Amino acid sequence: MVEKYDYIIVGSGSAGSIIAYRLSEYFPNKKILLVEAGNNDNNIMVKIPAGYGYLFNNNKVNWKYYTEEIRGLNNRKDYWPKGKILGGSSSINAMVYIRGQKEDYDNWEINDWSWNDLLPYFIKLENHYLGKTSYHNDDGKIKISNIQKEKHQLTDEFIKSCINLGIKKNDDFNGQDQEGVGLYQLNTNRGVRSNVSREYLRKIKNKNFKLITSSHVSKIILKDDIATGIEFLKDNKKFIANCNDEIILSAGSISSPQILQLSGVGNQDDLRNYNIDKVKHLRYVGQNLQDHLNVALHYKTNIKSLNDDLRPITNKIFYFLKWFLFKNGPLTLSINQAGAFVKSDQSINTPDLQIYFLPLTASNLSNSKNASIEPDPFSGFTIAPCVLRPKSKGFVKIKSTNPLEHPSINPNYFDHDDDMFLMLKAYNLSNKISQTKPLKNFVEKKVGPHQFISSEDEKIDFIRQNSKTTYHPVGTCKMGFSDKDSVVDSSLKVHGFQNLRVADASVMPNLISGNTNAACMMIGEKCADLIRNHK
Ligand SMILES: Cc1cc2nc3c(=O)[nH]c(=O)nc-3n(C[C@H](O)[C@H](O)[C@H](O)COP(=O)(O)OP(=O)(O)OC[C@H]3O[C@@H](n4cnc5c(N)ncnc54)[C@H](O)[C@@H]3O)c2cc1C
Repeated sequence: MVEKYDYIIVGSGSAGSIIAYRLSEYFPNKKILLVEAGNNDNNIMVKIPAGYGYLFNNNKVNWKYYTEEIRGLNNRKDYWPKGKILGGSSSINAMVYIRGQKEDYDNWEINDWSWNDLLPYFIKLENHYLGKTSYHNDDGKIKISNIQKEKHQLTDEFIKSCINLGIKKNDDFNGQDQEGVGLYQLNTNRGVRSNVSREYLRKIKNKNFKLITSSHVSKIILKDDIATGIEFLKDNKKFIANCNDEIILSAGSISSPQILQLSGVGNQDDLRNYNIDKVKHLRYVGQNLQDHLNVALHYKTNIKSLNDDLRPITNKIFYFLKWFLFKNGPLTLSINQAGAFVKSDQSINTPDLQIYFLPLTASNLSNSKNASIEPDPFSGFTIAPCVLRPKSKGFVKIKSTNPLEHPSINPNYFDHDDDMFLMLKAYNLSNKISQTKPLKNFVEKKVGPHQFISSEDEKIDFIRQNSKTTYHPVGTCKMGFSDKDSVVDSSLKVHGFQNLRVADASVMPNLISGNTNAACMMIGEKCADLIRNHK
């Protein structure tokens, strides 16, 4: 028998889990269904913050995408992990909590999506260690903690070197001003990952809510301009769930455009190749793909780093017991401990570069199929520069009508020359930080190919050969004004459809200046409010 629901949400990630929770709260008399391709999040490595390395390449929790060969990366394919599990990527990510800059949202220039419109949603979702302030909240669901107590000594040395180079100290990247250097805030609670499945999904008490896992949504069923249901695959069988009110696609920036294309919503010239009945020509579906790229610079150090804590099996056992019994020690942290948001040129208004600091190296994190995060067998740290607002844009396109086949992904990194220009500046600054006291005193030598390069051309080649995703793809179901420039309107409704919305990273018109999880959770809160207010 085909079941009927009032609201159907596809994908339980950073946005989707929040939408499910809120709709169940706002509409206690409506029937709500959440369909997730992945399985439950009971894996202990999800709970342990440093379990990140074990989830990075794990088939059971990860979509494990590969891009096409990217010209700007010397025709390399890049490995793109993405959460296939309850909580989506919030269950496998590195937990760095960054909202981005006020100007990011204001520059989207979309009604009701300015910084002032959105700040209340960020505040609503937070339970922040700084308590209630004009920027923070202490009674939201997502816990945000300070890593001061557990951070590594090298992290402090990095911060001091940045300050010695004139970069100001910033104790709250999510406060009034993002610029400066400081410790990252983390989505953790007393040493445990604070992800959306744990903080929202598990807390849904209302019987109006149904969750189906291990179920791959293959398409949205469309009749003229109405979405009437979804089709999904579970245990090799096809199922249909019908819908009275609305369908919300929150499958993330790869799957949301893929599902739309499989449903016949996309560029008709592309879809014609696959004999898909054309329902709606919407040429921006899958376009506008943007992502942050970083290049890891590894250094051998003369004191013990996280490599020494996390590599030997005896330490793994010791620190696991410490985590298990007392919820303290290095396993309670992300591998990213500090960062700097800096301007490439003092004449610009806001930082355009982010420099990550990790008191660890994992130089085997290659593009091979065995990409995993295993620390190197020496003491080391990593500085990884990243350009915050890249101008290169790519696409996600289906390769066949098989919903289980990964789509073609090409972010076109370094397609725009400005991105390489800024990456070079970020690279030079990162090296300068490593050569500035006090961090300089702890550097034994550079590790890897960057130790041999000096000319501009060699640097460019090193960057092309070694840059990797920072796991922030956005923009493939862009929000905008009409079907001429975008996929969804400011209410997140797909242009031309009455009851089909997209709400996840894919709706961002442009990348925000920082890590993307907080913004995706905000989109979830905002979408639920739009539905509540019948907008
Ligand atoms: C390895 C990694 C590290 C990261 N580190 C950070 C960090 O430190 N800080 C930060 O801010 N951001 C980080 N991010 C990025 C951040 O986690 C994402 O931007 C954010 O979680 C995306 O949210 P979303 O709602 O768009 O999609 P997701 O959270 O990816 O959720 C999409 C959900 O839809 C499901 N789904 C997809 N297709 C289907 C289908 N056909 N049928 C049913 N279900 C489907 C997926 O399984 C998934 O559960 C990281 C990401 C990764 C992958």
